Amino acid sequence: MTNKKKITVAHGDGIGPEIMNATLRILEAANAPIEPEIIEIGEKVYKSGETSGIASESWNSLRDTKVFLKAPITTPQGGGYKSLNVTIRKTLGLFANVRPVNSLHPFIVTKHPKMDVVIIRENEEDLYAGIEHQQTPEVVQCLKLITRPGCEKIVRYAFEYAKAHGRKKVTCFSKDNIMKLTDGLFHKVFKEIGQEYPEIEQEHMIIDIASAVLADQPERLDVVVTLNLYGDIVSDIAAQISGSVGLGGSANIGENCAMFEAIHGSAPDIAGKSIANPSGLINAAVMMLMHINEPKVATLIKNALLATLEDGIHTADIYREEKSRMKATTQQFTDAIIERLGQRPSQLQAVDYKESSQLQTAVKDSKQPKAQKTLVGVDVFIDWDDATRNPEVIGKKLESIGGNGLKLKMITNRGVKVYPEGKPETFCTDHWRCRFVNDGEMLTNAQIIDLLGKVQSSDFDFIKTENLYTFDGVTGYSLGQGE
Ligand code: NAD
Repeated sequence: MTNKKKITVAHGDGIGPEIMNATLRILEAANAPIEPEIIEIGEKVYKSGETSGIASESWNSLRDTKVFLKAPITTPQGGGYKSLNVTIRKTLGLFANVRPVNSLHPFIVTKHPKMDVVIIRENEEDLYAGIEHQQTPEVVQCLKLITRPGCEKIVRYAFEYAKAHGRKKVTCFSKDNIMKLTDGLFHKVFKEIGQEYPEIEQEHMIIDIASAVLADQPERLDVVVTLNLYGDIVSDIAAQISGSVGLGGSANIGENCAMFEAIHGSAPDIAGKSIANPSGLINAAVMMLMHINEPKVATLIKNALLATLEDGIHTADIYREEKSRMKATTQQFTDAIIERLGQRPSQLQAVDYKESSQLQTAVKDSKQPKAQKTLVGVDVFIDWDDATRNPEVIGKKLESIGGNGLKLKMITNRGVKVYPEGKPETFCTDHWRCRFVNDGEMLTNAQIIDLLGKVQSSDFDFIKTENLYTFDGVTGYSLGQGE
């Protein structure tokens, strides 16, 4: 019988193997009661023909251990394979990405000595659904999908995290002045669930000014909860301004599984040079130890890491002549941490993790009554390109097509109304959104199919449709700019 907890480990690409070896050496030296099961992921797997970047057997290990310590992997940019990181997060339901960042002033140079922020990023939805289409020769789209249960889970997680970790404030970042339905839902759920946590201060910031505040006055922020893409960007900013992107660790938490990784990527520019900073992955391993309820070992390792940084033993990314004592290779830095196991930092705040510092918190979906859905129209997207691209031409033709309960209300191009009464200055592409609304009582899908038949017989090429609904009488679609 062994009391060791099995964990799945992947060495990843680029600097991945260097920082993972460093982290595993430290875990072993600290007698962490874990039994790593190594799996292969990333470039090698892609190249072997497994287009998901992970072999099917490896899922069995993840399902079995439910804990994944993962080094960064290289994701092809622009084209090629889908991101394995996103696949793993979504397949295992790892809905919360927790990224704590604090400055280690005066030992690590930073403009923000008082920074102590935890960014909680929604991890499964948003533009990362990766649903993209080219619709016309000129236009491509990416679907931003936001769900009420997704918002509820992450927002509740953020408040529970704040409560469990003695944090005072949760700030929601969104762009609901522009994306009124998607980001609007996120903000609305934040306000709703916030009412259950009156003891925690709550605020909302629009993501653009929020990012500026984070970069300039991070000490104003405590816990931040935000959507997937914004969270990805602002957590890199946070880590970088605290001293280096190489310092940040993250936990990807789900209801059954959890994955721990550095927030940075595979850094191919410095791979194989033994200069990578392993701190991000070590911090992730500390979070993993808290997750598997090993607060003593987590405390041992974190304090040794802090003592090493305090002693001026710094990898190249954080080395500054005036502050550092030694420019350490990855191995020297790792050796220094191992030597300091059992020590506590003397000036930096030492940690004393308790069982209550665990990252898994209860999530529950609040059951909403089902809203009454009413079909009130349809947006028909048309690929139309003639020499003029004159909205009056397509508008007049489509106006004659209506009937059977539907009539053309307006046409937009890239979201801007161009018909009727468009402005001659508006630039038009080959992608036209033509909004038909009901001119009678209730609409049915059959009426829409009938309309599409007429659009087609008039030689227009429709490329997609979006039904327009109201929910309990509330409009469930955005208006055109200028509508
Ligand atoms: P990156 O984070 O790998 O590197 C950005 C810069 O930071 C580079 O100059 C790098 O040298 C430096 N850096 C990063 N980590 C460091 C460390 N530990 N020590 C010292 N310096 C460090 O970002 P990138 O260059 O945009 O991406 C490289 C690859 O990583 C891409 O293929 C990307 O898709 C992938 N990526 C993977 C993950 C992941 O696996 N979770 C996350 C982000 C990016």
